[in-house]
Amino acid sequence: DLLFTEGRVDFQNVCFSYTAGKEILSEVSFTVMPGQTVALVGPSGSGKSTIIRLLFRFYDVQGGCILIDGQDISKVKQNSLRSYVGVVPQDTVLFNDNIRENIRYGRISASDQEVEEAAVAADIHHKILSFPDGYDTEVGERGLKLSGGEKQRVAIARTILKSPRIILLDEATSALDSQTERNIQASLAKVCANHTTLVVAHRLSTIIKADQILVLHDGRIAEQGRHEEL
Ligand code: ATP
Ligand code: MG
Repeated sequence: DLLFTEGRVDFQNVCFSYTAGKEILSEVSFTVMPGQTVALVGPSGSGKSTIIRLLFRFYDVQGGCILIDGQDISKVKQNSLRSYVGVVPQDTVLFNDNIRENIRYGRISASDQEVEEAAVAADIHHKILSFPDGYDTEVGERGLKLSGGEKQRVAIARTILKSPRIILLDEATSALDSQTERNIQASLAKVCANHTTLVVAHRLSTIIKADQILVLHDGRIAEQGRHEEL
């Protein structure tokens, strides 16, 4: 049911509320050209993660529309959309399975070797090997001892494996040491090259590299441009 090809994203006058009477996004319009990286910045609560959730269709918009390659995503089957768009959420919840399958979920046909290559690229391989059961470690009830940033790197590995046309990345707010941050930036730069990327950015290094920056304030786009222009 879907003819997505290039990976262009258009928000046209998008309005959204979680609960009646409290508008979270008001008339938000922007375009991400195929292959571009756009950084979303703004104060906590300004609606950045909401934009990501709408584009992945966790919710439907209440006004305006979101187009991918000219098609209204509310008219597209959710499965088709989600095979085309990959998301790394702000707070990653892992599945009740082992860590290998948690990464493989990005592309279930991937081999064990491909899973491990993705983990290396996301800089989480060594952490996984530090567990007695390595990649077979269960993420079950007792809970894997992973920080928010480490869980997010598992989600990044999953997305590297999936390699979707459009990548949505909601950067973890947790502080990373600078070496880890550089490693992740380098691997993300590899994954995101040629993919359309929408990133909620908390790190200056991410913002500087973006083709376009959208500054959100109270659910509206307050400013827009490149880093040197803002
Ligand atoms: P942060 O930088 O802290 O992650 P954000 O810009 O990503 O903030 P959003 O998560 O988009 O902010 O939230 C925007 C507003 O919507 C906030 O006021 C928040 O309280 C509200 N909100 C978010 N999720 C829900 C929800 N599930 N139900 C009701 N209100 C919500
Ligand atoms: Mg957020």
